Amino acid sequence: MTKNELIQLQKLPLEIKIVKSKKRIEEFYENKENPIISFSGGKDSTVLLDLVRNIYPDLKGIFVNTGLEFPEIINFIKNIKNIDIIYPKMKFKEVCNKYGYPVISKQISMGINRCKININKLYDELNNNKNEEKIIKYLIQIGLRINGGICPVSLKKQNPTISKKYYSLLFAPFKISERCCDIMKKNPLKQYAKENNIDGYYLGTMAEDSYLREKEYLKYGCNAWIKNLSTPIGFWTEKDIWDYIKKNNLNYSKIYDMGQIRTGCFVCHFGYLQSKDNRYKKIKTTHPKLYDFILNYFGMKEIIDFCDNLETIDNPFLKILNNVKNNTNNFEIINKEIKKYVNI
Ligand code: SF4
Repeated sequence: MTKNELIQLQKLPLEIKIVKSKKRIEEFYENKENPIISFSGGKDSTVLLDLVRNIYPDLKGIFVNTGLEFPEIINFIKNIKNIDIIYPKMKFKEVCNKYGYPVISKQISMGINRCKININKLYDELNNNKNEEKIIKYLIQIGLRINGGICPVSLKKQNPTISKKYYSLLFAPFKISERCCDIMKKNPLKQYAKENNIDGYYLGTMAEDSYLREKEYLKYGCNAWIKNLSTPIGFWTEKDIWDYIKKNNLNYSKIYDMGQIRTGCFVCHFGYLQSKDNRYKKIKTTHPKLYDFILNYFGMKEIIDFCDNLETIDNPFLKILNNVKNNTNNFEIINKEIKKYVNI
């Protein structure tokens, strides 16, 4: 699907969208043995649950309680029938201590994490063995992660790269990783699916939620067969969600009436810089105790402060990387550049 086709779909009246979504729901159901509704307790998920259960009233829902949900979401879910609640094996703090904090976005956290692995290897090499070949290899990996391009060794496209404004995260005094969602949400779901022979999920995500979700929707449409996922409201907009809720007089979590526009893990930094929702400030107003908990117990004060001041943090590594920048496919030039800065 092209971006233009998606825009046309997003412009359709709600009545037509409902008909289209229901068709996608049926199509997915007919091709699956044992699908389930992934339910988060948020407004999009509430609409999805209603749409699916209009056709299949007994279809089970699943909710992963990460321990990081607003109390209003937990209370709301308690009143919804036929929802299984599952839990991750690790707690948020354990995940952050072991693997790293989820910072800014999944892509950036992943890029920073991979890049830091190579920076650490590079430092080890510089301090110990000074093996020139390895030093160049690690620098190439770092350069590719930062500048993009084709890896001269594997000839594969390097992804994801890190935007310049986030380079300072490479020197953050805390660990950064994209793994939190996998450990806290995906793994418990995988385990549940295995134990209950689940072969498909309905999800209430929409293309307009984020760049990544739009990319996925353009690639797969509503039913991503290869991933066993159905996102039947993928082409809806936030306005459609509220119109549907009002039109059908649906109950929804009270969290929205308190001024929160975003649900999910209250502690999460993903999307914080891009969105202008002042997430943590809002939590300070609506849930002051929780706010204190986020900053102090979960240690997010350090992460928020650091990320709010990314541009002002000095980055000693940039000089080398900038010089490697345009030469990521040429070992000889890179070698020369590195020798200017590194005594090998
Ligand atoms: S939404 Fe954020 S805090 Fe929650 S599991 Fe995913 S990465 Fe972790």
